[in-house]
Amino acid sequence: MRPVNPFQLFSRYAAASVVAGLCVCADAQAQSPSPTAELLKELIQVDTSNPPGNEARIDDLLAAKLRPLGFKIDIIPTPVPGKSVLFARLQGDGSARPVLITSHGDVVGVERDKWTVDPFAGLTKDGYIYGRGAIDFKGGMAVFAQAVMELARNKVPLKRDVIFLVEADEESATYNTSWLAQSHWDKMDCEFALNEGGWIMTKPNGEVRYVSVSTNDKSSIAILLTARGTSTHSSMPLPDNAIFSLARALTKLGDYDTKVELTPSTRQFFSTLGQTADGPMKQYFSDLVDGQDPVKLAAADKAISADPLLHAIMRTTIAPVIINGGFRGNVIPGSAEANVNFRTIPGTTAEDLVAMVKKIVNDPRIEVTAPRSNPARPGTIPNSVAGTQDSTTDTALYRALAASANKLWPGVPVTPYLFQAGTDAIAWRSRGVPVYGIYPYPISNDDLRRMHGNDERVPIQSLDQGTKLIYDTLVAVAGK
Ligand SMILES: [Zn+2]
Repeated sequence: MRPVNPFQLFSRYAAASVVAGLCVCADAQAQSPSPTAELLKELIQVDTSNPPGNEARIDDLLAAKLRPLGFKIDIIPTPVPGKSVLFARLQGDGSARPVLITSHGDVVGVERDKWTVDPFAGLTKDGYIYGRGAIDFKGGMAVFAQAVMELARNKVPLKRDVIFLVEADEESATYNTSWLAQSHWDKMDCEFALNEGGWIMTKPNGEVRYVSVSTNDKSSIAILLTARGTSTHSSMPLPDNAIFSLARALTKLGDYDTKVELTPSTRQFFSTLGQTADGPMKQYFSDLVDGQDPVKLAAADKAISADPLLHAIMRTTIAPVIINGGFRGNVIPGSAEANVNFRTIPGTTAEDLVAMVKKIVNDPRIEVTAPRSNPARPGTIPNSVAGTQDSTTDTALYRALAASANKLWPGVPVTPYLFQAGTDAIAWRSRGVPVYGIYPYPISNDDLRRMHGNDERVPIQSLDQGTKLIYDTLVAVAGK
């Protein structure tokens, strides 16, 4: 039996809204009534830009809130001072194996001069919380933390432990979950896990269009292009200028679009979009999934690729991210190098990419390599290779998440999804533990583009909906 009316959580928010509405403050909206939004503000205000991360400050902040509610707290230090991992375990009766929900404590850095607000103030504006991590992933951390705290406050009888994990180094990978699993797998082991991943996307009118739950991630593989030429005085240029050669190679890569490759989950995802689409898009989605007619497929690819997220998940993507070359204004350098980041469809290897790039560039003077470990230069990231096998959707956790989403947004499709980037899910997926990903808040394409970019933000209303989604999911999957 469910001891808690699932709407109790929301009625509390609603009551707070009424109080805020009666308030004679100049800006009632600024007095956010949402406990999840209030928690998110606190989390954003702790700058955990990685490097260096300093995630221990987030762990301390959350431990102080969780411990009094009965969570068993374990903070695991990493070899780097100031960087740790938090486990908070809410105990069940042990009749079922644990469910784990995880979030990363670090965020990527900011180009501060390009933000219109302080990225670490946790500002409320026009119904949004602004700040680095608002979407990735302090927003999710706030939702997950709020949901598990509500479980504890409401004393929901549990048949399984609920483990809330705050990871370190997700954005830079040194002391991430793969590192953690080597020494502390016993603490992470579970029947299934929930992580960041799929999207709850809205239509232009704000209604939820679909809920996608990631069952696998794309891999991230770096390829280096190195052009060599004669190093000489810039007053007497030679035809073998390394920077020109590199530029020509990158132009060819830029003009190339990789072929469409649908996995079982993206096939299901695009079929679902087809069911909910109107007008010509319905046919385009159908032609994409069908994939038999090259002309129709090309037209479908072009139309669907107007959405950069959809463009990304149907193919391996190519993005030059760092260029190195030259050191003085009057010297032609002897070499120039581009670090190109590929986000690959599961099963694609670095060797496949090297062969593809060599063919596209078609210039023997350009060396194309897949460094075993990415060169330790500022800003480079290690490769992250996801598994080739999707997590099964035939679990109580996936079903609970889909049912909770259906209750919140009736008639909105829920579909498995190939996450367009990488996450820390590999630690579980590689050990055969099903792990699902969701950014638990409805967002628009505009919101999505700000992730890892400038003026990152999340709607407060979406945080509240997400808290309800996750709370209901946990009650269904872990409640007696
Ligand atoms: Zn993230």
